[in-house]
Amino acid sequence: MKSICVYCGASPGNSPLYAEAARQLARAMVETQIDLVYGGGNVGLMGIIADEVLRLGGKVTGVIPHGLVERELAHRSLTELHIVKDMHERKAKMASLAEGFIALPGGMGTLEELFEMLTWSQLGFHQKPIGLINVNHFYDELLGFLQHASASGFIKPSHITLLHHADDAHALINTFCTIGATEL
Ligand code: AMP
Repeated sequence: MKSICVYCGASPGNSPLYAEAARQLARAMVETQIDLVYGGGNVGLMGIIADEVLRLGGKVTGVIPHGLVERELAHRSLTELHIVKDMHERKAKMASLAEGFIALPGGMGTLEELFEMLTWSQLGFHQKPIGLINVNHFYDELLGFLQHASASGFIKPSHITLLHHADDAHALINTFCTIGATEL
């Protein structure tokens, strides 16, 4: 696996554990020579993971719509920065550049991006691995809700398993590398 797209908050969250998880994911990716693709911003967990990958000598590609260049303070020291027309182009570009997708803690933007990749996967538009890092039980309720939706007959059991999750980055990257070898 050569590149992973990471979705995460444009805010840092209110615990240092979130920033630490972003740095840990950066380390796990650089150690396994996986490039970072992300939203191109310099704020919140987005800025933290980009800075850490760059600091460790890894490659970072950002994709940001021109309307957010000022608001999310486009990161100006990336290996590559694509400035695109709108949010749709941003997500499509990020998806095409990456071989897998990981969500760290974040808000509605992070959830929207994660679920778009899940729905595209369940419809068979791609077979790239998708996972989230459940830092400090951040995603427990979301995972519980997905089980509830499945038990209620709205998500097939085979589609629930499309979303991998782990408490830490190394475990998730290992899973991705194993799946990537068989599925991609
Ligand atoms: P958040 O998780 O809400 O802090 O947002 C994280 C990132 O998702 C930010 O870069 C937002 O600009 C981005 N985002 C929010 N909504 C969308 C969307 N509909 N399409 C693409 N990116 C989005």
